[in-house]
Amino acid sequence: MTIYTNDQVEKWVKDEYIDFLKDACLSKEDLDKIRNATFIFGADVPSSRYDADDNVFKISSGDMGSDWDSLSRALMHEFGHFISDMIIDPTTTFVSGYPLFGKYVGGKHNNWVPNEKTDNWGPDIDADQLAFEEGMVDFLAAQYFASKGIVYQDDLNTPDKALEVLSQLGRDKSTRIEGVVTSFLNEYYKNQSESGPKGPAQAVGDFMRAATYDPRHGYTWLSTPARTINEFIDAKKKSDQNDPKNECSPGEGQAGDLSGLAGKYGFDGKNQPIIKFRPNSESQANTIATTIDGMTFANPEIDSIQNLIPIYDTNYEFPPGTAPIIEIYPNNYPSDSDVERIAFDPETLNIFSVDPANVLNLQQGNAFVENSNVNTPNLNISHVETEYLVKVIEGEELVETISGQINLADKSGSHESVTIPEGRSVVFSTDEGFEIFETGNRPSSSKSISWIFGLLTVFTIAILTALKVFRAKL
Ligand SMILES: [Zn+2]
Repeated sequence: MTIYTNDQVEKWVKDEYIDFLKDACLSKEDLDKIRNATFIFGADVPSSRYDADDNVFKISSGDMGSDWDSLSRALMHEFGHFISDMIIDPTTTFVSGYPLFGKYVGGKHNNWVPNEKTDNWGPDIDADQLAFEEGMVDFLAAQYFASKGIVYQDDLNTPDKALEVLSQLGRDKSTRIEGVVTSFLNEYYKNQSESGPKGPAQAVGDFMRAATYDPRHGYTWLSTPARTINEFIDAKKKSDQNDPKNECSPGEGQAGDLSGLAGKYGFDGKNQPIIKFRPNSESQANTIATTIDGMTFANPEIDSIQNLIPIYDTNYEFPPGTAPIIEIYPNNYPSDSDVERIAFDPETLNIFSVDPANVLNLQQGNAFVENSNVNTPNLNISHVETEYLVKVIEGEELVETISGQINLADKSGSHESVTIPEGRSVVFSTDEGFEIFETGNRPSSSKSISWIFGLLTVFTIAILTALKVFRAKL
């Protein structure tokens, strides 16, 4: 049931937006553009849209019949495209609906499905650009609603959903996922947005100024406004460095950590490790859920692979039976063999953290390591195309090479580094230094490596599942 007439709705949207943006440090000309926006109600389109080639809003019959909560959200989302097209990044000279200059505004809108170049919905598009366009207009809508004390969309309001999706689908898709872009912008501008009644509008003002940095400072016909989230991050850095501050610049303590958040949301091109593990009983799932702080999942499902993006320098404790596997993906990894892997002994308590260089610090436990560097309390272990076992027990570190060779350095520097060839083991203690021997023939005692076979099985299942999930999402 629609309780507003079309004219009332059109006027409401414009008045609301002008009222909101009067605190966004915009020019009078820009506000006039909003006053001149044109709406067509009950249009014969599957969902409401803003058409950049004739500058009109087409509000679908379906949306007109929906409740006001949905309609107002749809209208504010579409209005964001108008702001994008008229104020941030004008498109001009359309040829059969395609812009000759500027960008193709809007497309299939789904917060959590990565955009593809061809989505069978419209023309081929740049997936990063579409994610930025749609992610940006949800950010604009979210800030408008925040100014009214209303949450626009729950799953865009905190980082949880975005991080969960990234851990499921892969961080390499981050720039193509609209909800990831929106969550990043919402988090970056959170403190400013919540700083007072004008906060949301000022956050939008700062966003718009940063996004338009290049055309304002370069040749307008050569320089485009930010059209992807990475271009925005670059433009924002330049704007912070070179633009004079204005009323919409974030104040003391209001600016988010741009580089830190870019890393958190996967926009920095680096690959953070993912911890995979599989609980095999309900109590184990509960143990995991209550043991790990800062996790990005909820209610781990029994018998399914769980992914967790570790928080750097946080200590993780995996009780016996949980057997996590850590995988670290290099940039654009060409093959599976480039992935670094560390699988933990399911029978021991494993305590570890991951440092910002993505190196694992094993404080206690046993691990099977493939092509990865590991630090122990006393050692830096660097690999050379290696598989090896590391065992850290109280006061002693034992390392066995399986293939390739490894270099071991004493962190304190009191014992000289050693290189351990294939089939050899070494035990290190701070007093005695390194003692090298043939694997299995430790002079005093050496435990069996039978647990590795169990681990390899878990590990193979994990990889197969991961590949299946990965393929299914392509
Ligand atoms: Zn849209």
